[in-house]
Amino acid sequence: MSLTEQVMEQVMKRNPNEPEFHQAVKEVLESLEPVLERHPEYVKAGILERIVEPERVIMFRVPWVDDNGKVQVNRGFRVQFNSAIGPYKGGLRFHPSVNLGIIKFLGFEQIFKNSLTGLPIGGGKGGSDFDPKGKSDGEIMRFCQSFMTELYRHVGADVDVPAGDIGVGAREIGYMYGQYKRITGLYEGVLTGKGLTYGGSLARTEATGYGLCYFVDEMIKAKGKSFKGARVISSGSGNVSIYATQKVYQLGGKVVAMSDSNGYIYDPEGVNLDTIRRIKEVERKRISEYVKYHPHATYTEGCSGIWTVKCDIALPNATQNEINKESAEILVKNGCWAVGEGANMPSTPEAIEVFQKNGVLFAPAKAANAGGVATSALEMTQNSMRLSWTFEEVDAKLKEIMVNIYKNASEAAKEYGYEGNLVVGANIAGFKKVANAMLAQGIV
Ligand code: NDP
Repeated sequence: MSLTEQVMEQVMKRNPNEPEFHQAVKEVLESLEPVLERHPEYVKAGILERIVEPERVIMFRVPWVDDNGKVQVNRGFRVQFNSAIGPYKGGLRFHPSVNLGIIKFLGFEQIFKNSLTGLPIGGGKGGSDFDPKGKSDGEIMRFCQSFMTELYRHVGADVDVPAGDIGVGAREIGYMYGQYKRITGLYEGVLTGKGLTYGGSLARTEATGYGLCYFVDEMIKAKGKSFKGARVISSGSGNVSIYATQKVYQLGGKVVAMSDSNGYIYDPEGVNLDTIRRIKEVERKRISEYVKYHPHATYTEGCSGIWTVKCDIALPNATQNEINKESAEILVKNGCWAVGEGANMPSTPEAIEVFQKNGVLFAPAKAANAGGVATSALEMTQNSMRLSWTFEEVDAKLKEIMVNIYKNASEAAKEYGYEGNLVVGANIAGFKKVANAMLAQGIV
């Protein structure tokens, strides 16, 4: 049995009932075989055995009172996975599906993603099984305050800097920041994704979606293709999907389908983003409302049906494992020639295999969606320097970072004999920097 197989076996034994975590670790370990052959020092220093074990896992009770005066209890998590190259950094997810295994998969991915940005940030992730859907502003605030009343003792501007993720946007970050400041008395960059009036960075809101398109654009340009005239699917209708859609239009493409967890809309004329933003960001309603304003469009119940819509480029921007083998086969059959993962781990391993076997250009999440965390790191820099850059400055830095990530991932793939395979390339490039830092810092 090879070392990576042994480590994988140990991960499964030590972390039972955490399938998403197993899936994320397996993909990375499989990519690392050629690296370990060339670098026996990583093996000797037990890098693999250490990197799959979080440095710290924090789980806590989050009690709050709903609008009817009833006591509610949720569970809070923060997984501080790896601090070899910088303070822990990674989002907070509020969604009923959150459990320890989901947070560990996200935290593990975050280590390599953050390394790929070239910025000094370690990997972490957190969240809660709280469901923000249908809650009043007051309930959201009381929950966020209770969550931060425990989390504050584990985070800090140079310790661990959370951001948003599914269910955590500007409103939630604002409530958590207020509570952190109230408890600690510190006005510091402990969270990113803050509002512009209190330390937020311009272009952070747009960063993941824009960064995804910059990365995909670079990948397809290398094959002589472009977004111009391309039909695009952007699943989800949250932060990542909305700003990816905006950038697709700017690059000359057309988004014909978007979704939420209930269903999807198809608009052959191109989705009207103003309508989507009003429904999702202002009114916080369901995407089905879209057809009321655009009767020529159609709404279909069930979110996985979105992958049956004919497209050139698919951008899965909703959640993990949203494209399975069957959906991938339909995409290929319908002529899809590029996939860019905006969400974390949105394609199952079987789906990735289908894309790779059929020559579909494939941009894996940990490289393609790193623009969000990269811009969060730029927000940290601005906070430390006590100044703000313009939108154009931040956007230009974001673009440069995404182009570099593409370059590094494709060069690493080539160097290790996997030319064109960005999954392997991203894993190797992300891993080596962290492994070298761990090596230098001794057995810790
Ligand atoms: P949001 O909460 O803003 O939006 C999430 C969207 O996905 C919503 O439209 C939501 O629909 C849909 N969705 C959520 N869960 C499911 C599900 N189980 N099935 C189908 N659709 C679902 O989150 P973000 O846009 O911030 O995050 C989307 C993805 O991008 C996540 O994987 C996240 O980890 C990843 N990501 C986000 C970054 C960021 O900067 N925000 C950075 C890097 C990655 P509904 O409203 O019905 O719940």
